Amino acid sequence: RIVYVNGNYVPEPDAKISVFDRGFLFADGVYEVTSVIDGKLVDFAGHAARLRRSLAELKMEMPCSQEELLSIHRELIVRNEVTEGLVYLQVTRGVADRDFVFPSAATPPTLILFTQSKAVVDNPLADRGARIVSIEDIRWGRRDIKTVQLLYPSMAKMIAREKGADDAWLVEDGVVTEGTSNNAYIVTQDGTIVTRDLSSHILAGITRAAVLKCARDLQMKVEERPFTIAEAQAAREAFTTSATGFVCPVIEIDGAAVGDGQPGPVARRLRQAYVEESRKSAI
Ligand code: PLP
Repeated sequence: RIVYVNGNYVPEPDAKISVFDRGFLFADGVYEVTSVIDGKLVDFAGHAARLRRSLAELKMEMPCSQEELLSIHRELIVRNEVTEGLVYLQVTRGVADRDFVFPSAATPPTLILFTQSKAVVDNPLADRGARIVSIEDIRWGRRDIKTVQLLYPSMAKMIAREKGADDAWLVEDGVVTEGTSNNAYIVTQDGTIVTRDLSSHILAGITRAAVLKCARDLQMKVEERPFTIAEAQAAREAFTTSATGFVCPVIEIDGAAVGDGQPGPVARRLRQAYVEESRKSAI
């Protein structure tokens, strides 16, 4: 695999970062994951815009222009012959002697990108539907910034696995925030799609925005508000969205079947609509 590191395309074993990189020492960095279908990028502009916002919130500069970022993404897709999968991008505050104080703004950021080839359209989990457990959300208060500080989501996913589930939904003050690495939705008995409203409590998913647009275009009713696990368990359907998972049905929450315990028609319809739209608009 060819990896991009600070201006160079290098074979994976040669892709190296300093021990003093602030991403390594302080998780002082942000990332983006963009999915690839038919060798093309899905919603690149959305991911680039969110990257710009994450960096600005942390007082970091864009490492290069959006056009350059696009060409790096494309070059890696070509060099690694990716037809389906993802491109991962990470920017950190760069290399400096260890100090809680940020290094001078002149410190060059570290920019790395790599690809992963995998089937994203035909996903067995989307066919079967995911089993979810709820776990308390004890993450920091700026979840709107896509930082590489992912230890708690990683622990939550492991707790889910230990309980025989596929993933976890995080609960704060009695209401669901989001999944470990996805946004969370229910479809109420009257057919309304409900998902948490945007704030610093959750990440503004790029897929979330696209899927809510698909839903509205399909004349589905959408409400952006908090919901509880009890409401989710009593819902007709539940699902998640993320760049690489697209729309993934949820069939069980804390051991209780959602609806008839099968992937629901709204989730299936939205997955299909989103994949179709992505194939058309990918660049
Ligand atoms: N919420 C969290 C915490 C995430 O980590 C992610 C994706 O990694 C998402 C939501 C979904 O965002 P997107 O649709 O942009 O992949």
